[in-house]
Amino acid sequence: MPKRSTVPVPPDAAERRRKPLTVCYPVETLPQPDLDLLNAARRNLAKVGETVVPPREGRCFRVPRGHFFRIVSIEGPQVGDLNLWNAEDLSERFFSGKTRALHATHVGVGDRLWSSLPHLRPMATITHDTLGWYGWDEDGAGVHDVIGTRCDPYTNRLLTGGDYHHCCHSNLSRALAAERNIPVQEAEAHVHDVMNVFMCTGFTRDTHRYFMKASPVRPGDFIELFAEIDLLGALSACPGGDCGSTHSSDTAACHPLKVEVWRADPRDLAGWTPPGRNAYPRTHG
Ligand SMILES: [Zn+2]
Repeated sequence: MPKRSTVPVPPDAAERRRKPLTVCYPVETLPQPDLDLLNAARRNLAKVGETVVPPREGRCFRVPRGHFFRIVSIEGPQVGDLNLWNAEDLSERFFSGKTRALHATHVGVGDRLWSSLPHLRPMATITHDTLGWYGWDEDGAGVHDVIGTRCDPYTNRLLTGGDYHHCCHSNLSRALAAERNIPVQEAEAHVHDVMNVFMCTGFTRDTHRYFMKASPVRPGDFIELFAEIDLLGALSACPGGDCGSTHSSDTAACHPLKVEVWRADPRDLAGWTPPGRNAYPRTHG
C-alpha cells in the first residue's frame, strides 16, 4: 500500500514524476583498487591467525594493513554483523551510509568499505565472495547489505517491552570492551552501523520496507577483504542465525563464524600504497 495521503494530487504529478534519474555520486573519479594486483597477491597467502565467534556472541580481531581477512561460514547458515576501526584511532570507523551511497545497498568484489569523516578513505577492499553468484533475486534482495544498523536491545525494548542481552549491538560492545579493557558503556559509544555479512535483505516493492530472508550462505562460503589500513574488527554472530525469520531472541538456530587473517607476500604488493586520510583541509569555508 502506498503511504496514506490526504493531499490532493497536482495536475502535473505525472510530469513531475517522469524526470530522469541521476546516480547521486558519479564514481568514475573514485580511486579504484588495483584488483589485478590484489588478485595476484591473494594466490599466495599464508594464514597467520583465526578467531572463532561463538553463536550470539561477538569477538574482536586485528588485521595489519596489507593482509587479507576472510569471514567464513562454518557449521551452518549464519549472518555476521561487522564493525571496523582504525586500530590506532577508534574515532576512524566504518561509514556504512557513505559506503552505501558510493557503491550500493549491498556490496561485493571491488567495492570498498569507507571510513567516517573527516578521514573518508578505504579501510578495506572486497577481493573475493563465494556468494557473488547470488546477485539480485526475484524479491529484489541481495547479500552483504550496508543498509541495516545492527539488532540492538533498545529497539527490542521499544518493540517488545523485554530485554535481550545478545543483540549484535551488545555483542559488539562486549567484544570491544574485552579487547580494550574498558567499561562496556565506553565501548558501546564506538559501536557503529554495520556491514551485514551474508545477510540477505532488500526493500519490499510496494512499501519500500526493509526486509530479510534466509541467507543463502552455507558452510565453506566466505567473503574476503584486503585491509588497506591497520584494522581492529569486531564481528557478532547475530542471534537471528540465518535471519530468515526472527532476531533479538534465542529462538533462531545460530552457528559460529570464523575470521581468518592471511598474510600476502610483500613482493606481490610492491605496487600497492596504503591510502592516506582525505585531503580536504577542514576549513569549511
Ligand atoms: Zn543481529
